[in-house]
Amino acid sequence: SPIPDYLNSVLENARPNDDGATASYIDVLAKAETNRLAVALAMVDGELYSAGDDEIEFSIQSISKAFVYAIAIEDAGLPAVLEKIGMEPSGDAFNRLSLQKGSNRPFNPMINAGAITAHSLVVAPNATVEQRTERILSTLSRLAGRQLHVDEEIFEAELKDANRNMGIGYMLKAAGIITCNPAEAVRGYIRQCSVNVTVRDLAMMASVLCNSGVHPVSGERIMPAESARQVLSVMATCGMYDGSGEWLATVGFSAKSGVSGAIMGALPGQVGIAAFSPKLDERGNSVRAVDICKQLSADMGLHLMNSS
Ligand code: GLN
Repeated sequence: SPIPDYLNSVLENARPNDDGATASYIDVLAKAETNRLAVALAMVDGELYSAGDDEIEFSIQSISKAFVYAIAIEDAGLPAVLEKIGMEPSGDAFNRLSLQKGSNRPFNPMINAGAITAHSLVVAPNATVEQRTERILSTLSRLAGRQLHVDEEIFEAELKDANRNMGIGYMLKAAGIITCNPAEAVRGYIRQCSVNVTVRDLAMMASVLCNSGVHPVSGERIMPAESARQVLSVMATCGMYDGSGEWLATVGFSAKSGVSGAIMGALPGQVGIAAFSPKLDERGNSVRAVDICKQLSADMGLHLMNSS
């Protein structure tokens, strides 16, 4: 197959761009090896292709938000989720302390305020951190098709500097959006962000979203088709934070980024995409992963708004 050679050439095109910086607010991420570079494609027929550092694990970070939103929908029901979390792009940084005027809801589930709320809806409002993180870890593992693990070093590093996320948690509690202990909700949210994955895992996980919620390899239904559509829709409008509008116009497929330097993309009915390199732009999106997605979109015609 010519695909692995093609993917290697995409990586070599992206490699010279040394712009950006690793996330400074999580010390383990700040020290990440910046030359790491990887890409993976998972077709909805179950075929998986990858190149570069495709066996290297990194923490899933904000990409977990897409899947935890789906779990919250399953556990609490879509109406209850929509009562607590909006679906409008915020135009603000991912870690902004912000709520929609009137409803007091977080703008969407892809920024931290919405993601901490979605986390609090997993299992049941009175569930423990352990119950929620177990439910999330087992679902992420089914999506990846292998048992995933929490990176305890990342978890501890992020927990010790969690003032901003704790602030968001208490804001949500004061607004009546979360009903559980805010510090516990944030601790669980940080644990969900600390699950280690590879680009191969992420592409596979995305391919489930692209395949109406059915795992392309195992054939197992992991979420209802309506949930997969909801997640992909919110990813399209909000997944790249305050860069989401430009992303949809230029790259043109649903995507979610994370501060460890990964981007997960999804073109419904076709392919799950993952790219990884640690250095980030000022919005928190990986510079080289953005570049890789732009190349893939242009070369393979992945823009959703293309007529042909
Ligand atoms: N755990 C990170 C945080 O809450 C996730 C943010 C991200 O990946 N953009 O700050």
